[in-house]
Amino acid sequence: MTGSAPLAGGGCRTAPVLKERGQREVFCGLTGIIWLHRKMQDAFFLVVGSRTCAHLLQSAAGVMIFAEPRFATAILEEGDLAGLNDAHDELDREVARLLARRPDIRQLFLVGSCPSEVIKLDLGRAAERLTEAYAPKVRVLNYSGSGIETTFTQGEDACLASMVPVLPATDKRELMVVGALPDVVEDQMLGLLRDLSIKNVRCLPARSITSNVAVGPNTVFALNQPFLGDTCGALERRGARHIPAPFPFGEAGTTAWLRAIADEFGVSDERFAAATDAPRARASRAIAQASEHLQGKSVFFFPDSQLEIPLARFLTNECGMTAIEVGSPFIHDAIVGPDLELMEAGPVISEGQDVDLQLDRARAARPDLTVCGLGLANPLEAEGLTTKWAIELVFTPVHFYEQAGDLAGLFSRPLRRKGLISGLDKRLEAATPPIYAQAGAR
Ligand code: SF4
Repeated sequence: MTGSAPLAGGGCRTAPVLKERGQREVFCGLTGIIWLHRKMQDAFFLVVGSRTCAHLLQSAAGVMIFAEPRFATAILEEGDLAGLNDAHDELDREVARLLARRPDIRQLFLVGSCPSEVIKLDLGRAAERLTEAYAPKVRVLNYSGSGIETTFTQGEDACLASMVPVLPATDKRELMVVGALPDVVEDQMLGLLRDLSIKNVRCLPARSITSNVAVGPNTVFALNQPFLGDTCGALERRGARHIPAPFPFGEAGTTAWLRAIADEFGVSDERFAAATDAPRARASRAIAQASEHLQGKSVFFFPDSQLEIPLARFLTNECGMTAIEVGSPFIHDAIVGPDLELMEAGPVISEGQDVDLQLDRARAARPDLTVCGLGLANPLEAEGLTTKWAIELVFTPVHFYEQAGDLAGLFSRPLRRKGLISGLDKRLEAATPPIYAQAGAR
C-alpha cells in the first residue's frame, strides 16, 4: 500500500496512455439532471428533445414521481423535426406556461438533446431572448445534454460551465468548491473547512440563486468531481485559480484534498491535525472493516463515469486491491494527475474506448471485480465476472471521511454476494440426496 505522497518516478502519471477511439457504451448527459435538480432547489430543467429523451428521464428518475418535479421535456414533434413549425415560438409558449404555473422557478435551464442538435435549434439564442423577457426574476441558461460523443457525467459539467459566465464578479479572496454533492455531504465538507478556519467558502452549484456565488482574480477553486473539465476552464477564463489535488475519496484522498486547500490558505500543521485527526481515524477504521473482502483482489475499470482514476487510486492505495486496467472516457492531466501520481505504476491506463477490444482484454485478465456501465454488466456477469455498476458511484454519497467506509463497502458488496452464492451452491450440492441429484442430472 502507498499513502498520499507522490511516488518516485511519477507513479501512473508518467505511464503511457492507451488511447482508443472506437465504439463506446455510454449514457447521455441528460442523466445529470437527476441529481442536479435535487441540488438546485429553485432551478428547473427543460429538456428540448424527443419522446426517447422523456422516457430516459422518467425511467432514470422514477423515484421522483411523488414529488413536484423540477424537470420536464418539451417534446419536438415530427413537424418541428421536419422544419414545418417554428420551434422557437413553441418553446416560448411552453416556457410562458411553465413560469406562470411555477412561480418558485428562479433558474431555468434549456437542455439540448440529440434531436434539438440535429435540427440545429439555437438554444443559446432562445436563452438570451427568454432571459430578456423574464429577468430579473428568472435567469435562463442553456447547455447540451446530448448523447453524441459524451459521457453521462458531462451533463453536470456542461450545466455548471453554463453558469460561470453569468456569475457576478468579485475581488474578494474566496474559496469555491465545485461539483454537486448531496446536502448532507456538503455540510460535512463545510464543517471540515470551518474547522480549518477557512472563511468565505462558496459552493457551485449553490442550493439557490440567492447564495451570492461570485468569481474573480482572487478566487481559488477546488473540484470535488473529476469530470468538471469544461467548468474548470470556464472558471480559469474568469480569472480564478485551480488548486490541484487528489479527489476526496477515502481517508488518504480526503486528507490530501484538504491539505492542498490548507496549504493555499496557510493553515498550520497543528490546526490541520486538530481538525482532521479524529475523522481520519474513524475513516481508516471504517475502510479497514469494509475492505476485508477487497484485499488482494484485482479490479478492471471500463470507462464510464470519469471517476475511474480517483477510485482506482482509492482501491489500490487504501483497500489493498490491484488494478489491471483503469479506463476513463477522458484524461485531463491537470485534474486527475495528482491521483495518477499516487498510484503505483503497473495497470494499463486507457483513455476512450474500443469496446470489443477492451472486452477481450477483460476476458483475458478475468479480474475479481469489473467496474462498468449498465450495458456491459449483465453480459459480463453471465460470463462469470463479478461487476459493479459505475453509475451507482455517482448516485451514492461517497465523498469525504464519513462516507469512506461506505465507498469501500460499495465495491466489496458484489464480491461478498458472489462468495455467499457460491458457498450456498456448494452447500446445496452437498445436501442434495443422490436420487434428486440424479433426477436433476437427467
Ligand atoms: S439526448 Fe440523445 S442519447 Fe440522450 S435520450 Fe435524448 S436522443 Fe437519447
